[in-house]
Amino acid sequence: MEKIFSWKNIVGNSDKIAQLKKFSADKKFPHALLFAGVEGIGKRKIAETCAASLICENPIDGEPCGTCESCKLMAANSHPDFYVVEPEDTKTARNIKIGQIRDLQREAFLRPIQAERRVVIIDGAEFMNKAAANCILKTLEEPPSQTIFILLTANRAGLLLTIRSRCMTINFDKLTAAQIKKSLTAYGIDDAKAQKLSVISDGSLGRALTLEKSGGYELRDDALTLIKQVYKKELTDEIIFAKGKIFETYSRENFSDFVTYVQKILRDVFAFNKFELYNSDLKDKIAEIKFDEENLYRMIAEGTQVQRRLKSNANLRLLAESYLMRLRMAV
Ligand SMILES: [Zn+2]
Repeated sequence: MEKIFSWKNIVGNSDKIAQLKKFSADKKFPHALLFAGVEGIGKRKIAETCAASLICENPIDGEPCGTCESCKLMAANSHPDFYVVEPEDTKTARNIKIGQIRDLQREAFLRPIQAERRVVIIDGAEFMNKAAANCILKTLEEPPSQTIFILLTANRAGLLLTIRSRCMTINFDKLTAAQIKKSLTAYGIDDAKAQKLSVISDGSLGRALTLEKSGGYELRDDALTLIKQVYKKELTDEIIFAKGKIFETYSRENFSDFVTYVQKILRDVFAFNKFELYNSDLKDKIAEIKFDEENLYRMIAEGTQVQRRLKSNANLRLLAESYLMRLRMAV
């Protein structure tokens, strides 16, 4: 798929984007950058746009021209001076291995072929294993002059201190609900759905898109329904067993998301008229639910407990059923 790289396509973090654009326009780009921030806020897209602007043959104020040979090669994802390393997923682990870093080093030390410099991206830098991290550290200590390194991480603390100190860190903020909504609408998602997703995606456009694809946003409605049933004492054994059967078909991540929604709604019931709500769009519905504080604490504790047990091998259906029963008993 052709990609168009332009700073205009980046949503949010405008001060940081202005800074990067200026670095590029002034030809004073730091040789190693570390982009930090939660998943799904556009770090990769921003890094790719940096690369496009650095590699473009006729950039205008740090904006890639979109028409030169380099821009065309970038759009086709086949520029010889642009290189990306990502973690490899196996059944048991997510890792960037030393072999991948050695390949990257070989590229990084070559003269550029098409552009004036090379750009390499390490996406998910916190997933470098120890050997890989030590290997890249050596390169960052004595970097090739023609190559710019951009490391991306959702967990800066998971990187060696020595790597962090060799890079200029840029911390990217979560996106606002309004920014996410605008992007979702631009993707052709209808207004009502975009509104809902923007509120529940916790500042991450990537998460909003995943939820949209998986139908995960319906989980929040299910969570609200469950809490209402508990509140109205309508959560019968029949409902619990029927739910258990449905949860059995879920992935553990899906069920975990469901519990997270329950927790956030319960927190909103507690916070009502005190703090800002997570689910501000559900304000009217949350106003109808009232639990004693003590009961709320008990319910929230059950959620924390089931999240912990989810990490073990416990049977999903039994876990879900016992969670619902415990919620019922907590009030
Ligand atoms: Zn260009």
